[in-house]
Formats: sequence, C-alpha cells, structure tokens
Amino acid sequence: MSFNIAVDGPAGAGKSTIAKAVARKMGLIYVDTGAMYRAMALYMVREGVDLCDSEAIIAKCREADITIRYEDGIQVVYLNGENVNPYLRTEETGHAASYVSVIPKVREKMVDLQRKLAAGSDCIMDGRDIGTCVLPNADRKIYLTASSAVRAKRRYDELTAKGEKCELEKIRADIEERDYRDMHREASPLKQADDAILVDTSHMMVEEVIDKIISLCAH
Ligand code: C5P
Repeated sequence: MSFNIAVDGPAGAGKSTIAKAVARKMGLIYVDTGAMYRAMALYMVREGVDLCDSEAIIAKCREADITIRYEDGIQVVYLNGENVNPYLRTEETGHAASYVSVIPKVREKMVDLQRKLAAGSDCIMDGRDIGTCVLPNADRKIYLTASSAVRAKRRYDELTAKGEKCELEKIRADIEERDYRDMHREASPLKQADDAILVDTSHMMVEEVIDKIISLCAH
C-alpha cells in the first residue's frame, strides 16, 4: 500500500510550493493535479473551443490524451505526446482550467489518472478535491488556506519578480472569482474534508509551513 498525503485549498494558498518541498524532504512524489486541468484547458483554448460550451468541451476532451511522466523527479505533463509544462503556469491557463474543471466528464478522466498515480507511488498530491473525492482514504489530509488579500499579494510579488506587469486588485478579483467557481460547482466543489487538518498560512513563512506539514505527516 502506498503512503498518500492529500493537500487541498484555494488558488494561491501555496499548495504547490509547500507540497514540492515536503515531497523532496520526505522522499515522496509530488502530484500536481491542477496541471492536468490546466493541460486540458490549454487544449480547449488551442482548439478554439468556447469555454462556456460544455457540450463542445465534452466532445473535444475525448481527443485530449493527457499523460504524466516523472523526469529527474519533476512532473511532466504530455498533451497528445507534447510536453506542455512551459505553457501551464500562466494566469490565463489557470483561469481557463477553472471553467473546464466544472465538467464531470473532464473530472472523471483526471481523477482516474490521479488515482492510478497515487496507487503506484508514495506521494503528496495537491488540488481541490483530493481529500474529499480523489483519495478519500489518504493517510493524511491537509487543507491549506490564507486570506485572499495575502494570496493575491504573494501572486503579485511572484509575477513582478518575473518582470511581468500586473495589478494587485485585478489579481485579487481573479482569485476570488476562481475560488467562487471552484467552491460552488456541482461536481466535487472545493471544501475542507471532515478529517482534514486546517492550516492557515496567512501569517506564516514558507519554511514554517513546510515544517508544520512535515510534523503533521510524519509516519
Ligand atoms: O491548482 P491550480 O491553480 O493549478 O488549479 C487550476 C484550476 O484547476 C483550479 O482553479 C480548479 O478549477 C481546477 N482544479 C480542480 N481540481 C483539482 C485541481 C485543480 O478542479 N484537483
């Protein structure tokens, strides 16, 4: 039986930064499920599909073959054989992902892939529905959050450090809109699992959060 840690929470709570570091320190694989929804969204955008047209998305999602490989310990997402990692982390793709992810047919396909990865390796998996739906029997469940003001400021600092022009208020509005869609959709909405431990990182430093998660997940 593999050892699985589930990490859920809203956009920009630091899930991927924390999960990556915990994976490295605990010798686990890091499974980034948001990247899978982002790859599906990228496919729809490239194909010119209207993101509000669920019938068109359902029809097209059959053509999108999404697979995951680990290369030098890094998760690489292949979309119909192409490594799409360089295109996944933009704000636009994250936003588009929150449209395609409301569709149950899309989710079924992704959840199937995620469960296979978790069954095959000790891992820390982050997303929105990991503790509630993908891995209901995970060994540990963490719900990582922070206020939307703090999350927006972190995203803003990250983008400006990369030299990208952005506005703090616009980022905050986008984050709040994405949270709303993720929390209010019918299929596997974002919520804290009953048996998940809540970690609010609003007033914590990254290293502090990493240590806290490791202490909660020691086995
Ligand atoms: O975590 P990340 O920002 O990469 O996720 C992008 C979008 O993918 C989220 O806003 C959400 O709509 C969707 N998602 C999801 N379920 C997951 C992971 C991500 O619905 N397990």
